[in-house]
Amino acid sequence: MPGSPQAQHGTARSRAAASGPSGPLPREAGTVIVGGGLAGVELATALAEQGAEDVVLLEAGPGGDLAHIHLAHPQAAATEIVFAPERDPYFHRPWRSGAPPHYTGISGLRRRLGGRSLYWHGVVLPLEDWALHPPGWPAEIVAELTTGVGGAPSWYDRVTEQLTDWSGGGLWDPAQPARTSIGGQEFRALPRACRRRPGTDRWEAYTALDAWRGPDGDVTPPAGVRVHCDTEVLAVDVRGGRARGVLVRLGDGDVSRIAAHTVVLSAGTVESTRLAALALTDAGALPSPRLGGLADHIVQGFVVRLPADRLPPPGSYHLPTDPVLRSYLRVDVHDDGPGRALLDVRVTGEQLPNEGSVVECEPSDEPFPRASVRTGLLPEDHKMISGQRDLLRDFWAATARELGEPSAPLEFTGYGDTERDNTRVLPDRTRSQSAGRPETWSSLLGTEDHEGGSLPLGRLLDTRHAFTALPGLHAAGPAVFPRLGAANPSLTTIALSRRLAGLLPGA
Ligand SMILES: Cc1cc2nc3c(=O)[nH]c(=O)nc-3n(C[C@H](O)[C@H](O)[C@H](O)COP(=O)(O)OP(=O)(O)OC[C@H]3O[C@@H](n4cnc5c(N)ncnc54)[C@H](O)[C@@H]3O)c2cc1C
Repeated sequence: MPGSPQAQHGTARSRAAASGPSGPLPREAGTVIVGGGLAGVELATALAEQGAEDVVLLEAGPGGDLAHIHLAHPQAAATEIVFAPERDPYFHRPWRSGAPPHYTGISGLRRRLGGRSLYWHGVVLPLEDWALHPPGWPAEIVAELTTGVGGAPSWYDRVTEQLTDWSGGGLWDPAQPARTSIGGQEFRALPRACRRRPGTDRWEAYTALDAWRGPDGDVTPPAGVRVHCDTEVLAVDVRGGRARGVLVRLGDGDVSRIAAHTVVLSAGTVESTRLAALALTDAGALPSPRLGGLADHIVQGFVVRLPADRLPPPGSYHLPTDPVLRSYLRVDVHDDGPGRALLDVRVTGEQLPNEGSVVECEPSDEPFPRASVRTGLLPEDHKMISGQRDLLRDFWAATARELGEPSAPLEFTGYGDTERDNTRVLPDRTRSQSAGRPETWSSLLGTEDHEGGSLPLGRLLDTRHAFTALPGLHAAGPAVFPRLGAANPSLTTIALSRRLAGLLPGA
């Protein structure tokens, strides 16, 4: 099918176009991409750059509001939208948690074209060597990401260069030093693919949607890509042992079928895994719709209000920890009024994949059952949680000594305590905190928005991101990471989506 961009209902053209009358859904396509978030839009853009002619991107949410939340709202309001999702009209949790409080609360999708690429903070760190190595990750992919193969630059280098250009020539705020010392440790500026709107305190993080924006600000999909919003994929159409397209529900409730040669799942980890589990069960490759390996980052930290004069300038800094701890340490210094700063310290670590952390569809009469999520921690994860706490205690003791502050001890409660989760860093809560008194928190699993691991490359998927047991079906996004490492996932997600674009049939 010819693939010129079309301005029809639900295309990414503009607010007005998205709320206009519905255009016809295609009956067939070369490649269908399920989900227009960070991975799906990156993949569609890369496919278009390579001249693909018949790509249809299906997004369950609307496409009329394509601004990053930190561009659309002041800092405090944007933070509330993340941490009080009832204030976000796009927040949507299509799963049930079988392990509350994990995968509840702020754990969910932001159902709109752009997905969580319109919320993320732009932190771009490569996965650490201790996680990104064979046999966990396929050797071929490790080499392509890190060193490059056959004289080609590595994917990490290519994407970092592109994001640096997009950000205006540097990956951090020039006002903050590239290196700084706190608590006796040498930190580096945290690389972020962000740019400020000149003359304001507003900023945005990178999204591939930006490549779709014309000089007038209108957003039009590139040639070869058609976008249909308000179009929820209910299931992969599996017949004769291969994926033959998708079944979709339109905004008006009608259910329709789109035939496709290739289907790529990029609907966020839990939803992509639900669709894959149902499809693999239909194909006879799974006894029931259930896949394990789901993991998120384990993150703990503390916040403390301090005099500003002996702290580094406001900004974000990071430091790898001993690989045994599978974590990295991050420090943010925020302005807290005249002469005062808020020190926000967190350690982010890798939850190991395990077969007890699952996405499954419970038996139901529903033709398209919802996902249920269960998650559990391995003994190694519990060990890491206590190691992270020791690291934070030592770091706080050293920092307090350095600043001449009394070192009030860090007190933690049980991991999973909803009274002390990551909403503790909300401005409303930190404002009422006494100066010099650190308050600790631990995030619940599923609430870091870094969930992945349930459709691993080299096991369920081959190195071309194709399901080995179901021809025609592929996946993208953090779901395909065999191990998460400690680094935030999006640099790797972008790199892998770009790599995948060159591997799909017809690309
Ligand atoms: C506040 C915040 C800050 C973050 N900061 C960072 C950071 O600094 N660095 C970093 O690396 N990561 C960060 N992340 C995480 C990062 O945003 C996610 O890892 C990334 O967006 C995941 O990409 P994805 O494409 O898999 O999912 P998403 O971006 O969530 O996209 C999935 C899309 O699929 C759509 N969809 C779902 N189900 C269906 C269906 N059935 N049919 C059709 N469409 C469907 C959804 O509506 C959504 O648009 C942050 C996330 C948040 C929320």
